[in-house]
Formats: sequence, structure tokens, C-alpha cells
Amino acid sequence: MNTCIFCKIISREIPADIVYEDKNFLAFLDINPTQKGHILLMPKSHYRWVQDIPDDLTQESALLQKKIMNSLTANIGCDYILIAVEGLQVEHAHTHLIPSYFDKKNADWHHVTYDPGEIAKYASKIRSVL
Ligand code: 5GP
Ligand code: ZN
Repeated sequence: MNTCIFCKIISREIPADIVYEDKNFLAFLDINPTQKGHILLMPKSHYRWVQDIPDDLTQESALLQKKIMNSLTANIGCDYILIAVEGLQVEHAHTHLIPSYFDKKNADWHHVTYDPGEIAKYASKIRSVL
């Protein structure tokens, strides 16, 4: 889809801090995270909603999601991962994987900001075990 911002990231028309890529999927850090290390995982093909993704890709995505979650736990040192699907802002099916902490609530999608250069460090840490 030529107007879709995530399709543009997938085709490298615009940059992103990519943590994983294969034939069918791309994962990168959310530009406006609710926690540092907040990842967006998506199929490279454009589907509107996650339930529109074909079954074979959904299965592949579940395994990949687990791998990324293990990487987040190992590298970010979070207590658990919040998995969320919304899709109101960007109409390209994607899943949010959010490092979470027992003592920090994720309520209301509050946002945090990276220090200069910090997002690239997070990307490289997460990428290193994927
Ligand atoms: P949703 O569509 O699930 O409601 O939210 C889309 C998410 O994509 C938001 O968390 C937003 O911060 C993120 N996002 C929107 N545009 C960009 C972008 O250009 N680059 C990156 N890395 N994330 C984006
Ligand atoms: Zn798209």
C-alpha cells in the first residue's frame, strides 16, 4: 500500500530501528513507546487487521513473537511482556510487544522518551539474540 507508513518502513522508504527481519516479517522499535524496548511486529504484506493475516503466517508469527519476547526478557530485564493489538493509528496489521514491570503500570498507554542515541542501543541489544 503506497500510503501506509509501515509499508514504507518495510520497503526502506523511511527509516526505523529494526530488530528482526525475514522473508515474511519485520519487527522494529515503536517511535513513541509506552516502555523502552516497545516493539511492533508485523507481516511484510499489508493486511488491515491481525485477523486478516492468513493462517500459515499467523502460525509463523506466533513462533516469532515468542522468540522476540524471550529476547526482550533476556536483554531488557523486564518482568513480563504485554502483548497488545490496536491498529487505530496505523492500518497495517501489527502487534505491540511491550516490556513490562510489576511495579510500573502500563495503564492508559502513557509514553516514555528515549535519551539521544538510546533507541539504537535498545535495537542492537534486542537484535543480538534474534
Ligand atoms: P496503533 O495503530 O496500534 O494504534 O499504533 C501504531 C503505533 O505505531 C503507535 O504506537 C506509534 O507510536 C507507532 N508508529 C507510528 N508511526 C511510526 C513510525 O513512523 N515509526 C515507528 N517506529 N513507529 C511508528
Ligand atoms: Zn502497510
